[in-house]
Amino acid sequence: MLTLDFKRTSLLGAAAAIGLAVSATPGLAQQKFVTIGTGGVTGVYYAVGGAICRLVNKDRAKHGIRCSVESTGGSAFNINTIKAGELDFGMAQSDIQFNAIKGEGGYKGQPYGDLRAVFSVHPEPFTVLARKEANISKFEDFKGKRFNVGNPGSGTRGSMEELLGAMGWKLSDFSLASELKADEHGPALCDNKIDGFFYAVGHPSANIQDPTTTCGAKLVSLTGPAVDKLVKEKPYYAKATIPGGMYSGNPNPTETYGVLATLVTSAKVPDAVVYEIVKATFENFDEFKKLHPAFANLDPQKMVKDGNSAPLHPGAEKYYKEKGWLK
Ligand code: GLU
Repeated sequence: MLTLDFKRTSLLGAAAAIGLAVSATPGLAQQKFVTIGTGGVTGVYYAVGGAICRLVNKDRAKHGIRCSVESTGGSAFNINTIKAGELDFGMAQSDIQFNAIKGEGGYKGQPYGDLRAVFSVHPEPFTVLARKEANISKFEDFKGKRFNVGNPGSGTRGSMEELLGAMGWKLSDFSLASELKADEHGPALCDNKIDGFFYAVGHPSANIQDPTTTCGAKLVSLTGPAVDKLVKEKPYYAKATIPGGMYSGNPNPTETYGVLATLVTSAKVPDAVVYEIVKATFENFDEFKKLHPAFANLDPQKMVKDGNSAPLHPGAEKYYKEKGWLK
């Protein structure tokens, strides 16, 4: 019984192998799977990964690369998982990319030297949302209240900690510092489990749209001396404004600061793979921009330069040089 099954399996295997060898194109023979780590499904990273993969997969018969997207805990998780060799690409905030390559912040004393930048994408203003009934007019009003500081592994959490440090606050300054993932903080806010949350995300985003429409949640500005100091001292921060009227019930602009979203990889990922990913994105750039409203203002020449503190991957550099975007 066992022997028979074994024979049958190997015969089938052999037949399949012959079939493949006869019918396979050269591209198929070298089919390569790449995965992009993103963030929560209601965020914008997931849409970036989906857009890139969609454009890459259009030409998979030619280059043999099949691209897929994974929802993850966010920036630091993505960088750490690329480092472990379990992801090929990942989305990461520009501040987390900076800290990882330089060995600062959450990567203090542990720089990840093989981290490589591919390109930057949309701006991610730090976005604070409050329950309508919580009577919050500025971030300081959250003292003693229930606040979601983000899950460990998210870029959001890293940036939150840098802000709290600059303000001289500890997690114990909140009555509850919850660590919900981005996909959970909106429902928690509307269910009165928390009074507010902090999220580094592009706009517009379904993640912010849901609580503003479902329970009238309010955007809260992030300004003051601690923010001014951070923006002055840290090269990866810039002031930002979330336009008024972008979200229901929030007619006024919200002043804040933030980072850029970036795509990163490892020096160990082959040049040819990174080249095809970059090429698919920029050769189809008008289509890319239409895949999410947060991409509307993207400019390829800026994506190549801004927000990338790790060295560019040579596969990406090759394409940018061909285009004349780099010397
Ligand atoms: N910037 C967020 C983080 O790394 C993710 C944002 C998104 O998924 O769009 O935590």
